[in-house]
Amino acid sequence: MLVVMKKGATPVEIEAVTSGIERKGCIARPIPGGERVAICVLHNNGPVDAAAFLQLPGVKEAIPVTRPYKLVSRESQGWDTVIDVGGVLVGNGHLTLMAGPCAVESEMQALSIARIVKKAGAQIFRGGAFKPRTSPYAFQGLGEEGLKILAKVRQETGMPVVTEAIDHEVFDMVEQYADVVQIGARNMQNFSLLRRAGKSRKPVLLKRGMAATIEEWLMAAEYVMEGGNEKVILCERGVRTFAHHSRNTLDLSAIPVVSQESHLPVIVDPSHAAGLRDQVIPLSRAAVAVGCHGLMVEVHHAPETALSDGPQSLYPAQFDDLCRQIGPIFDVYKMSINGYPSEHSNTGAKA
Ligand code: PEP
Ligand code: MN
Repeated sequence: MLVVMKKGATPVEIEAVTSGIERKGCIARPIPGGERVAICVLHNNGPVDAAAFLQLPGVKEAIPVTRPYKLVSRESQGWDTVIDVGGVLVGNGHLTLMAGPCAVESEMQALSIARIVKKAGAQIFRGGAFKPRTSPYAFQGLGEEGLKILAKVRQETGMPVVTEAIDHEVFDMVEQYADVVQIGARNMQNFSLLRRAGKSRKPVLLKRGMAATIEEWLMAAEYVMEGGNEKVILCERGVRTFAHHSRNTLDLSAIPVVSQESHLPVIVDPSHAAGLRDQVIPLSRAAVAVGCHGLMVEVHHAPETALSDGPQSLYPAQFDDLCRQIGPIFDVYKMSINGYPSEHSNTGAKA
């Protein structure tokens, strides 16, 4: 249940509601809004009696939250969450580009790719220092050395960095260096890792598990939010199907569904969905058209020598093309959902 306070409700009135919720053995989580505060009731076993709250001073209404994911749901927050990643905004009206190699391989490799993707239009640099690999014999990442290289990339280029924490053990270390901590597809239901991410003050990029339903994915995000971290970015990266023509099948239908169900930003990773670079640009165009809030794309200056995911990594010139191609699609997308701007301007419609 969500107890919505009247505009201008006093701190004493809000406190009376939260303590009333806690007396019932539940947890009260205030959600500050632009105009009024709403208080979400968590950990209730069964329905909560609204009548007790409706008679308290300052209470406007009590709305049942019907979804199993409470804090993640649009029922508890109607407006879109926008997340500030070192000055780069993710969510509502922004199309944020994250790009870089699958894995950080050396300082030279990371810095050259970072300069290439920044010039083309990327705002956030991606690169794994700890790699979740199917084979124990495959390159596992440079570990802390990779994180130090990422810090150097940030310092040299000004781009915030996103990198994965593959387990609970490395989370503390990754959190110290990263601007966004990634939780990979294979870890989407690693509940102890999700709880750890919930305690972090860094934004979390939560990838959809390769066999996860949208409800399971949103419940995973709920773990992070329930832990106290509201900065969750969802990432669709393809699900496993019977198809052989691509590594996974990019589920673009997830984007409108997630946007309807949740206020959290949702981005698309066409690289891990496709597994092959030739599909990455067309899938990126489609992802933008369907309304994602950003893309995460693998790029390598010499993909044939890449230590991980070379076949899906774009050549620099292809990433340039990608950025050029999605710009007009994003402009048309904004105009189509907001109506054409009344005055012609080359900045396009406001999103
Ligand atoms: C990655 O982005 O580096 C990665 C391993 O992706 P996923 O978890 O989606 O497979
Ligand atoms: Mn990869």
